[in-house]
Amino acid sequence: MDFTVLTLFPDLIGPFFDHGMISRGIEKNLIKGQCINIRDFSTDRHKTVDDRPYGGGSGMIMKPEPLQAAVEYAQKKSPESRVILMTPQGTRFSQEKAQELASQKTGLIFVCGRYEGLDERITTLLVDEEISIGDYVMTGGELAAMVIIDAVARLIPGVLGSCDSSKSDSFTDDRLEYAQYTRPEEFNGLGVPGVLLSGNHEKIRQWRRTSSLQRTFLKRPDLFRKSTLTTEEKNILMQWRRELGTFVSE
Ligand code: SAM
Repeated sequence: MDFTVLTLFPDLIGPFFDHGMISRGIEKNLIKGQCINIRDFSTDRHKTVDDRPYGGGSGMIMKPEPLQAAVEYAQKKSPESRVILMTPQGTRFSQEKAQELASQKTGLIFVCGRYEGLDERITTLLVDEEISIGDYVMTGGELAAMVIIDAVARLIPGVLGSCDSSKSDSFTDDRLEYAQYTRPEEFNGLGVPGVLLSGNHEKIRQWRRTSSLQRTFLKRPDLFRKSTLTTEEKNILMQWRRELGTFVSE
């Protein structure tokens, strides 16, 4: 999959493509990352990319002409790509959205705004989708684009070392991931749950299921509203309730 970022600050994005799993995915030819400087598409001698808002008010607005030329250039390089505008007014990004974008066969073009945002006609004419990474306002869309690319790229088969490693991630099935441990077996007086050292795969699976459910229950109970509990999950929660009852009455 091709990831193309349209930005006024390409230096922010370049190093992101050069590190970690993203650069490994690029090396393995599973993904491509490119950055396009919107300013290169400004035609006046000052390379102007912004102007004052019609109707007055503070701040500057990104002009439509360089943006249109930059998007069209990106579309030529990566045909049939989906054009995504980074904006706090967009649909809230989520793991579900990351999965949907990762299943796209074509590429993704991210338009990063700056200043007070961009001329509305660009959104009307060229943008397929508007995405926000949360209910707060940043100075530019670059961090948002990197957040989305990072979350999507790791779901593309082969980008992570093991094809299984994203399957138990938090939010994949509306649950948080179970607690994880590595060596040493004892750290600052704290041990590792014995079952994880037992080598009994079924017991480890059950322990992880329980840990995942307990964490979801304690940290993000709202996730339970998104999907129904399986019979195994109901049994685990009932058992936990019984254990808590014993603990409280002691
Ligand atoms: N005036 C705009 C508004 O109130 O909706 C905010 C503009 S913001 C200062 C500049 C740019 O940062 C936006 O065009 C967008 O690309 C990016 N941005 C800011 N917050 C964002 C968020 N939560 N999610 C995605 N992009 C964001």
